[in-house]
Amino acid sequence: MRQALIMGNWKMNGSREEGVQLAKALAEGLNAGSQEVAVCVPFVYLSDVRGALASSSIALGAQNVADQAAGAYTGEISAAMLADCGCKYALVGHSERRSYYGDTNQTVASRFCQAQKQNVIPVLCVGETLEEREQDRTFQVVDEQLDAVIDAAGIEAFANAVIAYEPVWAIGTGKTASDEQAQEVHQYIRKRIADRNPSIAEKVQILYGGSVKPDNAKGLFAMPDIDGGLVGGASLDAKGFLQICHSV
Ligand code: PEP
Repeated sequence: MRQALIMGNWKMNGSREEGVQLAKALAEGLNAGSQEVAVCVPFVYLSDVRGALASSSIALGAQNVADQAAGAYTGEISAAMLADCGCKYALVGHSERRSYYGDTNQTVASRFCQAQKQNVIPVLCVGETLEEREQDRTFQVVDEQLDAVIDAAGIEAFANAVIAYEPVWAIGTGKTASDEQAQEVHQYIRKRIADRNPSIAEKVQILYGGSVKPDNAKGLFAMPDIDGGLVGGASLDAKGFLQICHSV
């Protein structure tokens, strides 16, 4: 049985005070359950939010991590720094990083490896654009995104990683993949891992992301290969995000 994981991605939103208040509201409102909850917070607020979550089970995550270990990389944040700030998770290859900031499958693979070297669990984001889906290239794109990391890190690395399937056309657009559309790709991803290592495939958590909301979370999370969600916009509202967390 895989543990459900619900992860909020705050993106570049909020102030220090808003982040702390949101974290406190989540810590207070989260019912004890079998699911794990995490929030991916802007780098500069990690320590504040860590403090606000101190007495709760909610884990801390970052939204990106450097593809290098340390050194002259102005503006970058290393995996060691994230570990130092108490991060359990780091997103790698979010579609906004891929499309606006030049992340490639290779740099994403390097970020993934750097995170794991510091015991920060990488959350590998994969997913196709609308154009790629319309060209029937969804599986090919997901294969390329997964394979770059498998080639760099080895399939065994997925024993300690999370995958998030996020169709780019569903992120921040209000368009959610149907439960069946999402399940089809999740099942495909699990099979691709299983072809190399069935026991890792059975254990790896695959989250769905793309306009998850309180009213669609239950259906998505009920799918057999969907192990939780990566939630952007709806994670900024404590009440709504808690409702999503309680939908597993
Ligand atoms: C995301 O940022 O990963 C995401 C899925 O955003 P949203 O829920 O707003 O679509």
